[in-house]
Amino acid sequence: MSRQRLYGKTLNELSDITAAVSLPPYAARQIAGWLYRRGAPEISSMTDLSLAARNLLEKNYETGLTPPSSVASASDGTRKYLFGISENRFIETAFIPDRERATVCLSVQSGCRMGCHFCMTARQGFQGNLSSGDILNQFRSIPEHRSLTNIVFMGMGEPLDNFEEVMKSLEILISEWGYGWSPSRITVSTIGITDRIRDFLEGTRCHLAVSLHTPFDEERQALMPVQKAHPIKKVLEVIRGFDFGRQRRISFEYILFKGLNDTPDHVKELAKILSGIRCRINLIRFHAIPGSKYRSPDTKAMEAFRDRLSAKGITATIRASRGEDIGAACGLLSTLEQNKTR
Ligand code: SF4
Repeated sequence: MSRQRLYGKTLNELSDITAAVSLPPYAARQIAGWLYRRGAPEISSMTDLSLAARNLLEKNYETGLTPPSSVASASDGTRKYLFGISENRFIETAFIPDRERATVCLSVQSGCRMGCHFCMTARQGFQGNLSSGDILNQFRSIPEHRSLTNIVFMGMGEPLDNFEEVMKSLEILISEWGYGWSPSRITVSTIGITDRIRDFLEGTRCHLAVSLHTPFDEERQALMPVQKAHPIKKVLEVIRGFDFGRQRRISFEYILFKGLNDTPDHVKELAKILSGIRCRINLIRFHAIPGSKYRSPDTKAMEAFRDRLSAKGITATIRASRGEDIGAACGLLSTLEQNKTR
């Protein structure tokens, strides 16, 4: 029988485990300390638990940390790690150094069921949700772990479609018994699942980024099927009704496609639908994927779009493209790897 993984369990879950094997209540905190603060590679390293307690735990549990199976390094310092999830299934994790920042971009699902037409991960279909252990293992098991300053949930999959495991991983990241990270250094990105956005905003203080990509309903639906069930205007209503306070940030991701969503009409409509929301827009160049009808805009067009937004009073920044020589589009590397092993 395979042993269960302790890594990725919350303090409450660890308490249930210690109670089940008749360990004292404080043992759950000790185990959490070893897993998240001290980075114990194995249960046998948890030396403030008695030998009998360690032996008892080892019968059914393991820490469950797994190293990446491969890495691709770009000339700009970006690295993409592949983690094997099951036979012939891989997820991607990106490490992105940028001056004083060092960001890890985590995946939350194997594949994705949201079907965005510009996305490589969507072409893999949906293979399953990652557990909080799988999500956090990407953060913990890359070699740059100790130098990280920021975490973004922007890799493969839709975080709010794997709500419970994502919320558990956030709890472990920010709790004092976990990694003790500040929520202001963590951003979760969603394509906009209305009811889950409310739950997310109430359940954590981490930042939220919403993928917008166009302010026009029909155009958005042609890019992102989610628009039908969760129209962006309903998503904005939820956001507008929430008090973000001074510390918390709401941002919108806007992938620019050449000649599609980069016109003055788009700027005008964006100013209209975002009115009253204190936010910023991150402009992202579309990264070409094989067989796609969409095209990347040039830098001049991106700057012109940014400047038009600024003239309307909307803060917009152009996100630098990273890792272009190793396949910047999320899902590209893992798809290649999967095809190799078929
Ligand atoms: S863009 Fe995000 S939500 Fe859309 S299919 Fe790709 S991974 Fe899923």
